[in-house]
Amino acid sequence: MACLSTYNSRSRPDHEPIPAPNATPKLKRPAIHFERMTTPCVSATIAIEIRTTTVNNISNQTMPTEPTSYDLVISGGRVIDPANNIDAKLDVAVSNGKIAAVEANINVSATQRVIDATGLVVTPGLIDLHTHIAADIRKVTNEDLMVTADVAGVNAGVTTVLDAGSTGAFNVGGLVNTIAANATTRVLALLNVGTLGVIRAPEVLSADDINHEAAVEAIKAAPNVIKGVKVRMVSPGITALGIEMPKAAKAIASEAGVPMMVHVGDIMKQDPIAAVLAPTLLTEVLTKGDIVTHTLSHQVGALLANGSLLPQALEARKNGVYFDVGVGGSNFAFTAAQKVIDAGFIPDTISSDVTMMSRFAGPTYSLTECMGKVMSLGISFEDAIRMATAKPAEILGMSKEIGSLSIGAGADISILDLVEGNFRYHDTTGGVGNGSQAIKPVMAIRDGVPQPIDYGPRPWGWLPTQNA
Ligand SMILES: [Zn+2]
Repeated sequence: MACLSTYNSRSRPDHEPIPAPNATPKLKRPAIHFERMTTPCVSATIAIEIRTTTVNNISNQTMPTEPTSYDLVISGGRVIDPANNIDAKLDVAVSNGKIAAVEANINVSATQRVIDATGLVVTPGLIDLHTHIAADIRKVTNEDLMVTADVAGVNAGVTTVLDAGSTGAFNVGGLVNTIAANATTRVLALLNVGTLGVIRAPEVLSADDINHEAAVEAIKAAPNVIKGVKVRMVSPGITALGIEMPKAAKAIASEAGVPMMVHVGDIMKQDPIAAVLAPTLLTEVLTKGDIVTHTLSHQVGALLANGSLLPQALEARKNGVYFDVGVGGSNFAFTAAQKVIDAGFIPDTISSDVTMMSRFAGPTYSLTECMGKVMSLGISFEDAIRMATAKPAEILGMSKEIGSLSIGAGADISILDLVEGNFRYHDTTGGVGNGSQAIKPVMAIRDGVPQPIDYGPRPWGWLPTQNA
């Protein structure tokens, strides 16, 4: 009779939220339970009867405190919320699309929907700080480089995606007005310094492909979506413009009052000038709040020079520059990654740089796959969660809205399965990383609403290949 005794509990947590003024009076509503209440301990009819009886019996006494009527409770999971230093078995309650309570043994007898997360991990909604989600705005035929926001997002267990420069000043309208407006996943974006973005890659052939005024105007027109500027240190832009290219991006970012993200590593042509420019870029162009992506890249012009970490990377970090992983198709190799990490240089954030090809043909697949890859290099699961929740939220200047399970924050939540095994991760150079853990996305909850999850990229679902 656990449910009955739970129902009659008189206890009310101190921080219980005040019901909305238009909330349905609680005593008139039957208790309806989904998913968890599989045993017939309380039927809705019985619950109504009990409530009526209770009301009659105490009509001349002090009103009892009945259980809070939450919209949703995720019960019994291991809650990891790095922003609030929480790692414990707790329940998470949601009401009106906001986090309403995070505490042990929440009374769910008046809750509309209960998700049993026993054995699973419950985290703030994952944030992927580097994606390409501008699908369908380039060509009418489906040969696009980009993936859709929800395929990279909620359907992969991720609630927020940052599009990193897929579009520029002349085509970002489609991303803001159509893609971001219609996606279930929260879509944020960086504006490419090239007016057409990587929808035409390479995006900067000459100075003619940069339009300062149009870029500043675009950022100012959509501050809720466009959070910064993106520039890629790749040929032929770096050959034609040298350090003037990232400086042009910085000028746009400064005037618009936003940070910039720079892609390091010349994946196009391996132009040695990329390596020449990197130290200047790190110490003289980037400033506090800017982001370097592809921190673990093996490409020329990334953070390794002759196998050693550039000292300028340490200087940039000291100056307040952030470092993101951005696995992508060609921007991550296990050998290079291990060197950077062994030098004690741990990236701030883990992101996927996912595209259509890497989502379906691999080996990037998803943010959770990329977290597993980084974990195989010696980063703990708990750190990986922080690197995909609290830290990207901080970088975006959105810690109050996303990246935590703070009471009152939007109810963006990820439910994950941390699986132990003998996993084999791949990079695009043929390199292999062996990991004892992998993360399987189980569900994303966006603004309090549970979302469907994709089956995963492999015949057996999301998990990487296991060694025999
Ligand atoms: Zn990218």
